[in-house]
Amino acid sequence: NTFAEIDLGEQLNQNIRRCKYVKPTPVQRHAIPMVLGGRDLMACAQTGSGKTAAFCFPIISGIMREQYGQRPRGARTVYPLALILSPTRELSCQIHDEVKKFSYQTGVKVVVAYGGAPINQQLRELERGVDILVATPGRLVDLLERARVSLRMIRYLALDEADRMLDMGFEPQIRKIVEQMDMPDRGMRRTMLFSATFPREIQRLASDFLSNYIFLAV
Ligand code: AMP
Repeated sequence: NTFAEIDLGEQLNQNIRRCKYVKPTPVQRHAIPMVLGGRDLMACAQTGSGKTAAFCFPIISGIMREQYGQRPRGARTVYPLALILSPTRELSCQIHDEVKKFSYQTGVKVVVAYGGAPINQQLRELERGVDILVATPGRLVDLLERARVSLRMIRYLALDEADRMLDMGFEPQIRKIVEQMDMPDRGMRRTMLFSATFPREIQRLASDFLSNYIFLAV
């Protein structure tokens, strides 16, 4: 019942201790081992449940432990290994801060990209390299159309507050984004879908994007 009992890797466990997280919340206790064990996840979880760490920890840990070999280097195209989609600039920045905090001294690079702000600063950040990209759907579509980001190497996909993204009309962008993740074997990608509610539209996303998934309600 402590993070130390979950095999997240030494540096991440150390960062977790430094941030004074001792006991996993219920969603973390269930979600983290399942995703580390290779399952996809549909989680109904509210803000305050600790959902951010629940999808960030397996991503950071997975990227640290696996050897991904050489990634292609396009002229100006970057190839992140993980994508976290969220509805708003505010939430994306919160997630970015959380990933940054816990990837301290792991070598894992995180970049955030959101709309409603000039794109140039974000492009410069991306050019320095990115393992985990946190983005809002509209801005990411823009980056894909400019061929500044490729999703071909994505191994981890997390959709946070999926119901809110659909309420904001982002479903076409989300589908366009997921279509570009052409891992040769779909089973190579772990996908986590987080939503406060579980209406029919979210159930449809789950059956379209997840494979052999576990349903978690906390
Ligand atoms: P979230 O639901 O992800 O927005 O997290 C809510 C708040 O709880 C954030 O301020 C986190 O930093 C904090 N938090 C998340 N998990 C833990 C934990 N296991 N122990 C202590 N604080 C936590």
